[in-house]
Amino acid sequence: MKVEHVDVIIIGAGPAGAVAGAMLANLNHKVLIIEKEHFPRFSIGESLLPQCMAFIKQAGLLENIETSADDLAFQFKNGAAFFHQDKYTDFDFTEKFTPGPGTTYQIKRAGFDKLLADGAKQKGVDIRYGELVKKVDVECDNPTVDIQTDTGEEYQVTGKFLLDASGFGRVLPRLLQLETPSNFPVRQSYFTHVKDNITDKNFDRNKILITVHPNYKDIWYWLIPFADGTASVGVVGEPSMFDQQLTANQLLQSFIEQTPNLKHLLNNASFISDARVIKGYAANVDCLYGDNYALLGNAGEFLDPVFSSGVTIAMKSASLIAPVVDKKINGKRVDIENEFAVPLKKGIDCFKTFVSAWYDGRFQDVIFFEQQEPHVKAMISSILAGYAWDDNNPYVVQSERRLNVLVKLCNDI
Ligand code: FAD
Repeated sequence: MKVEHVDVIIIGAGPAGAVAGAMLANLNHKVLIIEKEHFPRFSIGESLLPQCMAFIKQAGLLENIETSADDLAFQFKNGAAFFHQDKYTDFDFTEKFTPGPGTTYQIKRAGFDKLLADGAKQKGVDIRYGELVKKVDVECDNPTVDIQTDTGEEYQVTGKFLLDASGFGRVLPRLLQLETPSNFPVRQSYFTHVKDNITDKNFDRNKILITVHPNYKDIWYWLIPFADGTASVGVVGEPSMFDQQLTANQLLQSFIEQTPNLKHLLNNASFISDARVIKGYAANVDCLYGDNYALLGNAGEFLDPVFSSGVTIAMKSASLIAPVVDKKINGKRVDIENEFAVPLKKGIDCFKTFVSAWYDGRFQDVIFFEQQEPHVKAMISSILAGYAWDDNNPYVVQSERRLNVLVKLCNDI
C-alpha cells in the first residue's frame, strides 16, 4: 500500500479542522486534511458567537469571511433574543463585559465551511475531499491512518501528530473506545430552512430568536434569519415529546403552530427543503488526547445547541492545540493536559452549567427577569457571546454558585 508522510494529519474539514489546519500551516507545518464529503455540503450549526471571530482572525481567515459575507447571505448578528409566552428579552453582545468582538454572523454552513476550508488551502493545507479515514494506529510514535477514496483506492499516511476534527463522525472516540455517556438526556431536533416572509417590524433579524414552548419549558425553538430573506428554524426536545408517526415536516410545522409568536412570525413562511431530524447528539469522551493525538470540536465533547456554542468550542479547541502541536513537532516538552485539555474544559464546563440551568428552568428565570442589573446582564451577555474562558468574569469562574445566587435574587424579588 502507498504510504505518505506529513507533519499533521487532520480528520475532517469542518470549523475545527479548517481552523486548526490554517493555524498549523501558519506555523510552517505540512498539514493534510482528510474529508469524507465534497464541499459545499450541508451542516447544522448556523448561528455563530462573537468569540469565534477572534479565532477566525487568529487563523488569518477573517478577511476571507468578510469579503464573502454579502455574496453568501451571511446575516450580521449582534445578540440573542428570547421569547416565552408573553415575555421577550434580548441581549446585545456589544454591551458585554468581556473585551473582544461583539458581533458575528448567522451563516449557512455549506458556504461558510467551504470558505474556511478554501482559506486553509490557500495557506498551504492539503485538503482531500471524498476520502474516508477508516483505521488509525496511534500506538507507535508516528500515528498512521488508513484512507479510502470514494473511487475505492486505499493508502496510508503517517504524521507526527493526529487531530480528530471529525465532528459527529467521532472517528477516534469510536475506533479507540474513548466514548463515555453524556450527562445530558437524549434530545432530538427537527429543522429546516424557510423562505421566511417575515413582515413584523419588531422582528430583529440581527439576533437569533430562541422561543420556549408555551407549555413545556424544556422544549425550545431557534429562528436564525439569514440576509437573503431565508431563515433556519428548528425545534428541540426529548424524543418522547414528538409523535414519531408524523413526518419530520408535519412535526416541525405542528410545533411551530403550537407557539403563538412563531406561528405569527412564520405565518407566510414556506419550507425550502424537507425538515431533517437529528437525535442523540450530546457526546462525551474519557480523555481528549493521547501522546500523539487530540480530539477537537464535536469529536471531543458536544453539549447542546441551545446557546450556539458548538462552532466556538470547536475553534477554541483548534486555537489551543495548534501551539502545543507546534512545540511537540519542534522537539519541545509539552503538557497536553494543562496546555489543552484543562483550559478547553474550563469553558465547556461553564457552558455546561448554563445549559443544565436552561433545561431545569433556573437560567430561564434569570433571562426573563425584568429588573436585571446592567453589569450582571453584561457578564451573562459575555457568556452568551461565547466568552466562557474569561477568568475576569465571576459567572465563568464560579458559574454554578454565582448563577444560583442570581436565581435566588430573581425569584425573591
Ligand atoms: P463538523 O462541523 O461536524 O465537521 C466534521 C467534518 O468531519 C465533517 O465535514 C465530516 O464530513 C468529516 N468527517 C466525519 N467523519 C469522517 C471520516 N471518517 N473521515 C473523513 N472525514 C470525516 N453550533 C453553533 O455554533 N451554532 C449553532 O447555532 C448550532 N446549532 C446546532 C443545532 C443542532 C440541532 C445541533 C445538533 C448542533 C448545533 N451546533 C451549533 C453545533 C455544531 O453543529 C457543531 O458544534 C460544529 O459543527 C462542530 O464543528 P466540528 O468542526 O467539530 O465538526
